[in-house]
Amino acid sequence: MVMTYKNYVNGNWVASDSGKIFSSLNPADESIVGHFQASTRADVRHAIASASTAFSSWRDTPAPSRAKYLWKMRDLLIKNKERLACLIVLEMGKVIAEARGDVQEAIDVFEYMAGEGRRLFGNTTPSELKDKFAMTVRMPVGVVGLITPWNFPIAIPAWKSAAALICGNSIVWKPSSDTPLCAVEFAKLIDEAGFPKGVFNMVTGSGWEIGDEIVRHQMIRGISFTGSRETGEHILRNAGVKKIGLELGGKNAIIILEDADLDLAVDGVVWGAFGTTGQRCTSASRVIVHEKIKSLFEKKLLARVKNLKVGEGIHHDIGPLINLKAVEKSARYVQIGLDEGAKLLFGGKPLNVHGKGFFFQPTIFTDCKSEMRICQDEIFGPVLSIIPVKSFDEAIRVSNSVSYGLSSAIYTADIQKAFRAINKLEAGLTYVNSSTIGSECHLPFGGVKGTGNGMREAGIHGIDEFSEIKTVYFDYSGKLQKATIDD
Ligand code: NAP
Repeated sequence: MVMTYKNYVNGNWVASDSGKIFSSLNPADESIVGHFQASTRADVRHAIASASTAFSSWRDTPAPSRAKYLWKMRDLLIKNKERLACLIVLEMGKVIAEARGDVQEAIDVFEYMAGEGRRLFGNTTPSELKDKFAMTVRMPVGVVGLITPWNFPIAIPAWKSAAALICGNSIVWKPSSDTPLCAVEFAKLIDEAGFPKGVFNMVTGSGWEIGDEIVRHQMIRGISFTGSRETGEHILRNAGVKKIGLELGGKNAIIILEDADLDLAVDGVVWGAFGTTGQRCTSASRVIVHEKIKSLFEKKLLARVKNLKVGEGIHHDIGPLINLKAVEKSARYVQIGLDEGAKLLFGGKPLNVHGKGFFFQPTIFTDCKSEMRICQDEIFGPVLSIIPVKSFDEAIRVSNSVSYGLSSAIYTADIQKAFRAINKLEAGLTYVNSSTIGSECHLPFGGVKGTGNGMREAGIHGIDEFSEIKTVYFDYSGKLQKATIDD
């Protein structure tokens, strides 16, 4: 029986004022996995009011005490890891090993951020004046709105909420309409962890209605958004003066130089391009390969890709795309690539695995030129473009030729070239001799150029997004002292 799930507001499970629901589908067979509240702006306002009421006592709870709730959440995620991983396969479609990784990342980040409860460091520094103390302390931002995509339905909400909660913020979360079941299950664990009522609220429904309400609402002081560049730009235009963190798309490249370990590079390309069916913001959708090794690289790559099994995520190497629109987008870009004169080396078509489901063949174009749209636009599917180059400098130029700047990678045995690439690649992440994917939760994550607005998630920098710095001057001289600005 297909169940209907509710919103989580002020510690209660509540139906939307709209009386309407929407469905979430299993992308592998198009069956309905659940019905969810099609919430309204009024539902969001209730959630914001509840978060606002809860904020003052949560802010005043010492951070090491807040950390105890995060640790409980970490324990619950461990206990529920396999169950959540299976739900991710069911609703989002990624293969089971990756789904386990999605949950593990959430476990790791709650563990890491719980530890942050005993740090949340500010700075002390000498004052210009005698008998005066100077320091910075961290304050929470207030009620923060989290808006998340479907491709990491547990890990991304965990990144954001663990950092927001440890800093003392209260939360209104709008998950993706493609993965509301994962969101409900995440909220159930938050409830079980015992966070005070109203500190964490989750409302399902459409981005253009309830997402927009979060974006515009005066009582929301911060927004943390992960998703497409179009939505990110819309948020920037409409949010007004708020603290905003944007994690947007990518068009990431792997450079393979002539001295690279080719088998290692092929491993990295297969994983980077076709892991998560190419639906990671860090997926490798371009390979920039030295022309001297191009044909050998392609031979080795083809031998691997031909053996990849596409199907539902429990028993196959590559799962479905998230929905029909994603299949149509990949197909559209294959046609664009052909029209632009790229050579189709493998794949290129939707796959009919058993009459239903959103499958697409792993697809490889070669002899591509950097300015082609398949080498510039984020396709977010299993479509890889190979661009031959003549030199290291040309490889760097091609890698940097896109408007995004999330991840980058280089395979080479030459240490000097590797370090020069680290300096020159315009990206928030650079991997040497490994693929474009594989972040660790204690290191910052984020991009430059069209990928973001300078915030970082995870690691010590992850708390900057969810805290404000207050500068404190403490004068114990007992007389009026003027700083040099007034002296
Ligand atoms: P999306 O369409 O932008 O949606 C992301 C979220 O924004 C969803 O919850 C969506 O709600 C909501 N939304 C849509 N319109 C909105 C509006 N007008 N106001 C407020 N919220 C709105 O992106 P997606 O397709 O879910 O995710 C794929 C994109 O995310 C790719 O571009 C990928 O590169 C990027 N991504 C980036 C990172 C990173 O860290 N840089 C990580 C993962 C993914 P609905 O679902 O209801 O439409």
